[in-house]
Amino acid sequence: MKKGKKLYEGKAKIIYATNDKNIVIQYFKDDATAFNNQKKTTIEGKGVLNNRISEHILSNLSQIGIENHLIKRLNMREQLIKLVEIIPVEFIIRNVATGSITKRLGIEDGTVLKEPLIEYCLKNDKLGDPLISEEHILAFDWATKIEIDKVKKMILRINDFMIGMFRGVGIKLIDFKLEFGRNKIDGKNEIILADEISPDTCRLWDSITDKKLDKDRFRKDLGDLIPAYTEVAKRLGILHEQSNISAVNVTKLSSIQRKKK
Ligand code: UDP
Repeated sequence: MKKGKKLYEGKAKIIYATNDKNIVIQYFKDDATAFNNQKKTTIEGKGVLNNRISEHILSNLSQIGIENHLIKRLNMREQLIKLVEIIPVEFIIRNVATGSITKRLGIEDGTVLKEPLIEYCLKNDKLGDPLISEEHILAFDWATKIEIDKVKKMILRINDFMIGMFRGVGIKLIDFKLEFGRNKIDGKNEIILADEISPDTCRLWDSITDKKLDKDRFRKDLGDLIPAYTEVAKRLGILHEQSNISAVNVTKLSSIQRKKK
């Protein structure tokens, strides 16, 4: 598969064309942004870890029947993925209240929700990804009722699977963000899971200590982001001693991160 021209550059990833019009390459950058792009930095090694962690989660989801855009990981930073038309909605799934919802609704941080809560945000950086309702999605044709119902079903299965997967390695899945896209199969649009699932898009707390193992380390200036993401990868059994992202490299990478601060 030949890598073609850059089609799109986002905050954390770049999409390149290939010689197949239905397949693109997703490149994971080291850039970190928060608070609608107001806080930015580069954290060396982050893209490599997110590429591996997202590959692991998406291929496990595929095995339980959740169709997604991942075809295969190509190298340390790139994946081959199916080109989809992204639904312009960020789907937020919460198991425990923290972050924006606690401020918005005055809920105590760490409140365990009775049931998973799905929230919708319009994918629009200029507007700061505003919270919207299902009715807004229908009113403005961002997705159909059939598509939303399918997405909601997929979300609950993904959440159940991921809670179990992380629980098994001593991590609580607090909340996360998903994106879905339309993929043409035999002339018919199918909804599939897209984007990435990584510590950049999930809140992950150590089951015993509640230590944050996700992007909140950057948002809240807690430091040691690379060691935290590495810890997630190791617990999931992705990183082994012979891996290219060896413990030595990760230590080197995190010292670069400290010097940059
Ligand atoms: N999230 C994300 N991208 C976004 C917004 C949210 O990946 O553009 C994830 C975030 O990492 C967290 C969850 O969605 O795991 C819920 O985010 P929240 O709305 O609480 O974000 P905050 O405004 O607190 O950063």
